Amino acid sequence: MKKSAGEHRVAIIGAGFSGLAAAIALIKQGIEDFVIFEQEAGLGGTWWNNHYPGAEVDLESHIYSFSFEPYDWSGIYATQEELLDYLNHVAKKWQVVKRIRFGEKVEQVAWNDADHQYTVTTASGEDHGRFCAVISAVGFLNVPLLPPFARGETPFKGVQCHTSRWPHGLEMTGKRVGILGTGSSAVQVVTEAERQAEDVTIFQLEPNWILPKGSLAFTEKERRWFKLPLIYWWKRAQLYWRYDMRQWFAGHARAGWKANKSRAEAALAYLKESLADRPDLLELATPKFPFEARRTVLSDTYYDSLKSPKVHLVPHGAQSLTETGIVDSTGKEYPVDMIVYATGFDAANYLCTLQVKGIGGRDLHQQWAGEPEALLGMMVPGFPNFFMMYGPNTNSVPLVTFYEAQASFAASMIKTMIRRGKTMIDVKPEATQRFNKWLQNLLSKTVWGTTSNYFRAGTGKIVSQWPLNATSYIAGLKLAKLFAVRMR
Ligand code: NAP
Repeated sequence: MKKSAGEHRVAIIGAGFSGLAAAIALIKQGIEDFVIFEQEAGLGGTWWNNHYPGAEVDLESHIYSFSFEPYDWSGIYATQEELLDYLNHVAKKWQVVKRIRFGEKVEQVAWNDADHQYTVTTASGEDHGRFCAVISAVGFLNVPLLPPFARGETPFKGVQCHTSRWPHGLEMTGKRVGILGTGSSAVQVVTEAERQAEDVTIFQLEPNWILPKGSLAFTEKERRWFKLPLIYWWKRAQLYWRYDMRQWFAGHARAGWKANKSRAEAALAYLKESLADRPDLLELATPKFPFEARRTVLSDTYYDSLKSPKVHLVPHGAQSLTETGIVDSTGKEYPVDMIVYATGFDAANYLCTLQVKGIGGRDLHQQWAGEPEALLGMMVPGFPNFFMMYGPNTNSVPLVTFYEAQASFAASMIKTMIRRGKTMIDVKPEATQRFNKWLQNLLSKTVWGTTSNYFRAGTGKIVSQWPLNATSYIAGLKLAKLFAVRMR
């Protein structure tokens, strides 16, 4: 095939953690001709969007960061601001920023059978030329999920926002705030609302299992120690090992397994101890579903916030709005000045903001038919040279380790394709089928299928979770390169 200009250009969609990982992996492979399309005005993805009060990660900073970019972390867990600073620092250092096209929302990527290149269509309508490969790094928790009554026009006259779309400058001070949800975002907002607002009402469909977070700032002395590479890497290795052990065959999510039992006992003990003086709250805040069947929440402050005289826990979901308040599912109205929807994301609907066209014009979402799946979350048969970061069934910890492994897989595949003078990398359908059968068998042994959660598609199939540890995933990608991928 005759080489055309731009034949080796790569498109990356998204400039969050995983998009930056992909960009740097390409640079490491010597592929510098790439464009990152980012719909927002800044980089950071999740950490650009989720700047609600109290937003903070719940994986330790030393492991929730790139292995090749250590940082002077201020505490065990980084805040949203610190993570955004970190990502900007990394992007600047690797000279990635100049390759980002901000404000460009990708709407479609389409494979051209004739020249084995992708066309990328963005909302601006600009002609971006052709790309030999596309790496989707659009994230997983990126499409806010609002309850039906909060979509479009609503009767409510006050301020309302989803946690991931918090207007800059919006304050809760002096307001009566209604918060919907009890997940990881909600507990962080509740803590801040309890500090700032006049009155806080939480609408709880179901309580979640909570473990203490152990959030602490590092002392100056600790920060000095962590500047020594050996100490930094020792800390990182310890954390990696701990997560790898915990996630071994998803032991943390298998009823009766040691990791699950010990964490369930710890969560119950924490709940009972924290709310011992408030039997009314203890009853309302005790989950009824098996431990880890939904993502366990980490918080040092939520139970204390619940006990504050200005916080009210409504043990019902919100059902509708009036001009001045929220109506719960029993029909009772609660007057509020401001509503925070901590109602999560349309997570299982992978790549729902994007149309992906493969060989012969086939459509990725039609092929998935509501049940997204891929080989190791990365490649789908019939969609050559299209790689997904954080794709189906790769949600696990430590997250950034997964991103690095995926980025390195995609970049090395693209590099090999170019080196061998090939134009097409596809994944074998039989290998993908066998892999997903094996995966679903493992997932069926976990508690994730026992309750409603964002891990499952509308059909009930678990489409987001990885049922082993990070080391197994990395090994899987190495095997996939040898046995499941073909180049033409
Ligand atoms: P989420 O875990 O999906 O929680 C959404 C909450 O909204 C649930 O409690 C849900 O109740 C509730 N809800 C939905 N409709 C409602 C209604 N009409 N009335 C009252 N409550 C309603 O979402 P999230 O808290 O944004 O967290 C999503 C994920 O983001 C987390 O699991 C985590 O992976 C990530 N995250 C991480 C951090 C961190 O610290 N690293 C922080 C925030 C988020 P039901 O569950 O009963 O349906």
